[in-house]
Amino acid sequence: MSHFFASRFSRIIARLLIIAVYFSKPIHSEEVMPPSRSEVPLKNKWNVEALYQEPAHWNQELLSIRGKDESPRWPELKMFKGKLGDPKAMNEFLERYLSLDRKLAKLATYAHLRVDEDLGNDEFKTNYGLISAINHDFRMETSWLEPEILALSDKEIRRLMSEPMLKPYQFHFERILRARPHTLSADKEELLALSGKALDASYKAFAALSNADMVFKPAVDSQGNEYPLSNGSYGSLIQSPDRNLRKTAVLHLHQGFGAHINTLCELLQGQTQNHLFGAKSRNFSDCVTAALFGNQINPNVVYQLIATVKKNRHLMEEYLSLRKQVLGVDELHVYDLSSPLVPEADVKISYADACKTVIDSVAPLGKTYQSALAKGLLEDRWVDPFENMKKRSGAYSSGCYDSMPYILMNFHDTVTDTMTLAHEAGHSMHSYLSRKNQSYLYSHYPIFVAEVASTFNEQLLMDELMRNAKTKREKAYLINDMIDRIRGTIFRQTMFAEFELKIHQMAEQGQPLTPSALNKMYAELMREYYGPELVVDKEVEWEWSRIPHFYYDFYVYQYATGVSAAMALHAQVTKSEGARDKYLKFLSSGGSKYPLDLLKEAGVDMTTSAPIEAAMQRFEFLLEELKKNLE
Ligand SMILES: [Zn+2]
Repeated sequence: MSHFFASRFSRIIARLLIIAVYFSKPIHSEEVMPPSRSEVPLKNKWNVEALYQEPAHWNQELLSIRGKDESPRWPELKMFKGKLGDPKAMNEFLERYLSLDRKLAKLATYAHLRVDEDLGNDEFKTNYGLISAINHDFRMETSWLEPEILALSDKEIRRLMSEPMLKPYQFHFERILRARPHTLSADKEELLALSGKALDASYKAFAALSNADMVFKPAVDSQGNEYPLSNGSYGSLIQSPDRNLRKTAVLHLHQGFGAHINTLCELLQGQTQNHLFGAKSRNFSDCVTAALFGNQINPNVVYQLIATVKKNRHLMEEYLSLRKQVLGVDELHVYDLSSPLVPEADVKISYADACKTVIDSVAPLGKTYQSALAKGLLEDRWVDPFENMKKRSGAYSSGCYDSMPYILMNFHDTVTDTMTLAHEAGHSMHSYLSRKNQSYLYSHYPIFVAEVASTFNEQLLMDELMRNAKTKREKAYLINDMIDRIRGTIFRQTMFAEFELKIHQMAEQGQPLTPSALNKMYAELMREYYGPELVVDKEVEWEWSRIPHFYYDFYVYQYATGVSAAMALHAQVTKSEGARDKYLKFLSSGGSKYPLDLLKEAGVDMTTSAPIEAAMQRFEFLLEELKKNLE
């Protein structure tokens, strides 16, 4: 909440939820080596030259804006300190500040794209380190900005807001005024800022323990082949049709966490206390209110989400009994939740065909949207589609105000990868339209709405794939894929949100978090959200201890609300042109309003349960379709 002029630094929308796309290989298998970066033809690389024709140009630009080597680096900004009560000075300062911020973002975008395309390139790594350090200096050297604005009286801020030359900054000033009751005196703010690094320790220790220090027994398939198990390989292993492989992946991973359960519990407790400290010191009634304040979201949005999903849990129970029946297992365990129900229908799809299908799928958004996306994918080279040696894994959409909305992928000819392309293309078109229609200051859309455009396009792709599917089995495969996505985003993330709410309430009431209390709470939630069909193994009771999102301060609920909003909007937009225009306006609005206002204008009111109900109806419809196509 303290980042009113939050970094508009290059941003990555990582796909935190969708699982790695290609299958892990056994420890001793022969791997086909991907090409080195220099062997990748230009047409298969993203268009970084559009940012800087060559690395030397990046260096030149860096030299021109890096400022002095001593402090202050940028005296032309520092000279405004103490003068911002004057409208002319405020205007000039903001222009200089935002212009420098924008240039730094462009430099950083180029540096991180180059690092990610080849993590082994030392020159790019050095450049990235350089720009990161300069950006850090920029944040530090301009950190007086907010306290100085807040030191003004409401009347003085109102007077600034009424100045015609400051009109473009009005929404930002409003946000600052709103935060006043939760902003402390300058010396206390400084003290809080100083405590930041120490308070990060719990999360950092959790990340170090779970990503670096922890070792897991390998997963083993039914032939006795061993597969290395890590947080990274887990996602693809649990999708295997081989039940023994899935089972050992789930049990061994959780045993790894279970062996450190006391430490992990203390770390989560430390982080929860950190959130509580922040909420209390800033005069908030509780943790959830504090976490949602910056986006002006009422905690009722979270409570309502939980209530509505739970009200519809019979749909999940129905789906799980169908899954159990199709898999032909006596007992349905957590390791039976992610395998494909119709594995043989996973058709191969080339990257060129994937692009064509994704472009065809967005026809309901109109010709202008469709041709902009086609140009980006087919001509302008937004995408870096294929794996090469030392390229970053996974997929994301990233860029800045002065760049293309780049997409990193590791495409392997699957339907899942095609879905990933549609997802990232959704993010990229949202960025593209927002940048085209908003000033730099408002071009950056808030996280609360970020997953709307991406999952909206997943729905459109699903429609297109269903139209093209030739057999019932193919259709069943696609429908089940979508059902599993909804299970992973809406049901599971809502369960996470409830767990998060409960542990924060315990902290607020002075109750200690203990492993046995958290294991019990987690197992109960699993039973509540999944029903009696699911057997909750004792290892799975430890699952809470491995979820990094519980350290993010009420982050996960946004997946569920985002996907629900997308599904509700998809239902409207595919039926009416008026709804389409409203949705396109939303995509062009960036961060020019509070997230709930942006979504309301698009056509969904997240303060009501209607969008979540609409998503549940869609789930029910898909379930019926799945049954028909499995017959
Ligand atoms: Zn996403």
